[in-house]
Amino acid sequence: STIVSLSGVGKKFESGTVALSDVDLCVARGEFLSLLGPSGCGKSTVLRLIAGLDRPTTGRIAWGGERRPRDIGFVFQEPTLMPWARVYDNVWLPLRLKGMSAREAEPRIVEALESVGLQDFHRAYPRELSGGMKMRVSIARALATDPTVLLMDEPFAALDEITRFKLNDDLLRLWKERGWTIIFVTHSVFESVYLSTRIAVMTSRPGRIAEEIAIDEPSPRS
Ligand code: ADP
Ligand code: ADP
Repeated sequence: STIVSLSGVGKKFESGTVALSDVDLCVARGEFLSLLGPSGCGKSTVLRLIAGLDRPTTGRIAWGGERRPRDIGFVFQEPTLMPWARVYDNVWLPLRLKGMSAREAEPRIVEALESVGLQDFHRAYPRELSGGMKMRVSIARALATDPTVLLMDEPFAALDEITRFKLNDDLLRLWKERGWTIIFVTHSVFESVYLSTRIAVMTSRPGRIAEEIAIDEPSPRS
């Protein structure tokens, strides 16, 4: 079944930049969709519109016949951590906001930090971490919320290749286990082929979807 669909979506910014033109995209529940394309083609804009962080100028976005789910996870391109809070508490915050008790939240936080390789950094503050590690905390925070829809904007771009490989596989495993719908922005052909069930290839000026490619079911290597 369709979880979200975009029909005739266009986005023109106040600056006059036409970021998107006539984007039609239908995302199925449980799908791992990659948005692949060069820098500036409008990939982030598509994610922001889907998340409701911005509105399309034309066209419409429909959610499986109803409203946008409240539990959408968003991993931004840059880490967005609270500098005054330890790693553990950064991951805990969205769970607290959902009303989850500390005891209920703990196993999720532990698992999420482990899946990004930061099990030894619970008590660290963001300023003590490298850029790549901060990004991994941001990813863990989204994973811990167990979102219905997970939107990821080039989440691994700043990471070294080995960490990236590990995270690719961990993300695939979680996606399979949890039944998440993932929309994953990347400019890496390799990553899109490795991870997704379908690739929407975008081109620029104006940003639009040029082609959609179905991929055989991806599977983690171990
Ligand atoms: P991508 O994620 O593929 O790199 P973006 O969605 O970030 O592309 O940007 C698409 C186009 O829209 C680019 O030309 C970018 O400069 C422009 N753009 C993005 N956000 C804004 C904004 N808030 N105001 C004006 N132009 C923007
Ligand atoms: P990246 O930005 O990809 O994490 P870095 O070169 O900054 O790359 O860090 C490489 C590795 O060094 C990290 O993945 C981590 O294992 C370790 N490291 C970096 N900063 C710290 C730190 N403050 N404390 C402990 N280990 C660290």
